[in-house]
Amino acid sequence: MQITPIPCLSDNYAYIINDKDSKTVGVIDPSEAPPIISFLNKKNLKLNYILNTHHHFDHIGGNNELKKLYDAKVVGFVGDKHRIPGIDITLKDNENWTFGNSSVKILHIPGHTLGHICFFFEQEKIAFTGDTLFSLGCGKIFEGDHKQMLTSLNKIKNLPKNTKIYCGHEYTYKNAEFCIKHDSDNINLKKKFDVIKKLRSQNLPTIPTSLEDELKSNIFLRCDQNDLKIKLNMKNHEDYKVFKKVRDLKDCF
Ligand SMILES: [Zn+2]
Repeated sequence: MQITPIPCLSDNYAYIINDKDSKTVGVIDPSEAPPIISFLNKKNLKLNYILNTHHHFDHIGGNNELKKLYDAKVVGFVGDKHRIPGIDITLKDNENWTFGNSSVKILHIPGHTLGHICFFFEQEKIAFTGDTLFSLGCGKIFEGDHKQMLTSLNKIKNLPKNTKIYCGHEYTYKNAEFCIKHDSDNINLKKKFDVIKKLRSQNLPTIPTSLEDELKSNIFLRCDQNDLKIKLNMKNHEDYKVFKKVRDLKDCF
């Protein structure tokens, strides 16, 4: 299984998934068609599936053109079938879907939008988290509430630690600056920031990240930890209140 990030628009990533054994090719969240078509042409590949984590325009913008060109099937959450263009295959929370030879578990993770899902490739331990979990950040809460978003992030936290995380945007550098501001003595975070600086100075993607790294360094995944609660003067506060505080701080950052 080969995964290639395709930069789209200003800071989005679509991902081409190429399962050579079963000759199955998919794209995650194509915000626009031309960069996807150009990559597929170069590699002489056809597209079988278009997978959408959620309905925002910068994740589905290429659906119709790609579907028409390749006769590809559009895959998304059943609850969003009215707002994902060209949807053919509707999936439910906890459902197992098959991509080539791979079993894909669907996690419904509302908060950023109410119909947001994560595609988790179980054997490969690969998660496509869209705009819910970013490297060192999390998505803005547009349709859900903070409790819902925290529950969704906790679902991702419960995946195996060595899961590779592929998210929807290259926001990592700015996210790291925010994490450092409020979690300044976190040694793992500092180490990760050094790696991020190096990658970005060469214009390379910081994605994938690993769940293990994120658990140690992503402030939004640390809202249940006492050391962070103390730093934020929120000792003994409930996790979701700490999460709300951090999300509010980030919205003003
Ligand atoms: Zn979005």
